[in-house]
Amino acid sequence: MARYTDAVCRLCRREGLKLFLKGSRCYTKKCSFERRPTPPGQHGVRRRKVGDYGLQLREKQKVRRVYGVLEKQFRNYFVEASRHSGVTGEYLLRSLELRLDNVVYRLRIGDKVEVRESHRGRELFKTVKETLRSHQAPDWLSLDAANLAGSVLAMPRRDQMPLDFNEQLVVEYYSR
Ligand code: SF4
Repeated sequence: MARYTDAVCRLCRREGLKLFLKGSRCYTKKCSFERRPTPPGQHGVRRRKVGDYGLQLREKQKVRRVYGVLEKQFRNYFVEASRHSGVTGEYLLRSLELRLDNVVYRLRIGDKVEVRESHRGRELFKTVKETLRSHQAPDWLSLDAANLAGSVLAMPRRDQMPLDFNEQLVVEYYSR
């Protein structure tokens, strides 16, 4: 599966907020965004006027990067969401929230990068899948995490999703 392998801190700086893509480092003083919150690149600090398209594009990129999805896959999620009755943006966010790597991350049993890339990640994937099937939390999963699993694995409501997205802008971006 294709994945983004370039530096991730520049993504936070580009979006102007912390996206928490580097595990525990994001919570320390070493966080690049804390040290240099300007957009990356030679002309990053230049002031630019952002139009409607720019706002829509930035919001789409922000959502895509938080969930670690590449462009084509993200578009597929959108196409799938737009086929459903109901609010397209909300359905899109729900499907992203329910990606297995995100579920494992929300359960606080592994970070997203680890889950996607390592053998332990694959093991965690398997365990979460089995948990989904049997509705029984494994021994090593704490009670808190097991409770959390219940709420995460149930279809999350929009107000339970932790990041502040404006999904309407994403819908507008793809509806141009
Ligand atoms: Fe973003 Fe800071 Fe984490 Fe780097 S360390 S990914 S800048 S939150």
